[in-house]
Amino acid sequence: MATPNLDIHERGSGMISSQPSHTEVSTCDKDISKTLDNARKVVAGTVHDLESDLTKLSLDIHSHPEIGYEEKFAHDTISDFLEKQGFKVKRHAYGLDTSFEAESGSGGHLIVYCAEYDALPGIGHGCGHNLIAMSSVSGFIATARALKDSGKPGRVRILGTPAEEGGGGKVKLLEAGAFKDNVAAAIMVHAVPQHSFAKGYSGTSGFRTLASRRFRVMFHGVSSHAGAQPWGGRNALDAAVGAYATLSMLRQQIHPMERINAVIENGGVVPNIIPDYACMAFGVRSHNSQTADALYDRVKQCIDAGAIASGCKTEYETAIPYTDLKVNDVLCKAYNEEMEIVGEKILIRDPEQSAAGTDMGNVSHEIPGFHGVFGIPTAPGVPPHHSDFCEAAKQPEAQTAALKASRGMAMMAIRVLLYPGMADRVKENFNNAEEEDYSSVNAEKSSGGSRNQLSDEDEHTCC
Ligand SMILES: [Zn+2]
Ligand SMILES: [Zn+2]
Repeated sequence: MATPNLDIHERGSGMISSQPSHTEVSTCDKDISKTLDNARKVVAGTVHDLESDLTKLSLDIHSHPEIGYEEKFAHDTISDFLEKQGFKVKRHAYGLDTSFEAESGSGGHLIVYCAEYDALPGIGHGCGHNLIAMSSVSGFIATARALKDSGKPGRVRILGTPAEEGGGGKVKLLEAGAFKDNVAAAIMVHAVPQHSFAKGYSGTSGFRTLASRRFRVMFHGVSSHAGAQPWGGRNALDAAVGAYATLSMLRQQIHPMERINAVIENGGVVPNIIPDYACMAFGVRSHNSQTADALYDRVKQCIDAGAIASGCKTEYETAIPYTDLKVNDVLCKAYNEEMEIVGEKILIRDPEQSAAGTDMGNVSHEIPGFHGVFGIPTAPGVPPHHSDFCEAAKQPEAQTAALKASRGMAMMAIRVLLYPGMADRVKENFNNAEEEDYSSVNAEKSSGGSRNQLSDEDEHTCC
């Protein structure tokens, strides 16, 4: 694993606890310390004053769950909220009906808050995106007010990013140019169960996720009378079942962190007709885009095997691929220090990737990104994407945790905008971050030749 670049104290990136070695630096640090102290007061005051309104916003979104690209209620409610707070909102931004954008400040560097608000089919806000929306709105307003109070140049923007749960909203926004304009960092936080952290910790700033590939396969066969003439049919359900069974075998020969998941969406209509159509949806996750593509190829072979065995044809429909999350250590350290000031201990970087995936990963490979996670109380063992996590995402403790995280984000943003050289340091870390080496995962493996090419020695030892 790559070693995090944590030398930012010594290089004066804006860490308030650094010890200046020159009088000149000391004067500079005194000025910036005063600026940051003032900003902390404005941020804390803003979040405190808006707490009940922000909580209502979160709970309103929670009680109106909408799946990706259908988040009309969330789009309108957040846009109305921001306008009420005095911001000019561009609704239906970048050609996406449920995206929006608002900005404050002028000149200087630019921070973009990403606000997710899509829900899961059947589970509602089982991923807690109502808390993401609230924390980004809270962080954006607090940053805007602290920036204005400082009288210094700098810009902060909030971008509504729909359809994170598989729809790739941020990838569409990337393609539409929403993250151009020399963005210093795109930032957000996500809720996870509190029990996922070691004792004493309430979050991770350097959260890491896998790359993922989602796709759907339509199996086309031939229908026939299941009783009178089954030999005349080509069973599409058999193709799907064959694919699923071979994937179950493949699962034993993949890396422990990789995931292959599938559901049968359509397996025929009635038992007396040989199904001429079946449909499956797949999710494949691996360490990075390269290994995810390689695993996808292996999965595809299994699916095609099921189709070949049953005499059916396949048709693939692929979704937008997600890349792994790239961590920016400078942003993480600033966030952790600010969270410590508000009484929270945050892990700097996950030692291992989480098996989740997010389209924020794609953003984090284009520009410096921050995707911290914070804990919310749940019963032991409850995971995200579960109805109990949905319940947890509307509890008062969850709102409090999200608002605290928004203060950490706001001050991280203020540091990037106002501390001399900090934005450059963030960029430098982005440019020089070491990628972990996963080249051995899903690498082409030699079978050592076919059985027909076994040597005499092999023939003897194989018994
Ligand atoms: Zn989710
Ligand atoms: Zn989520």
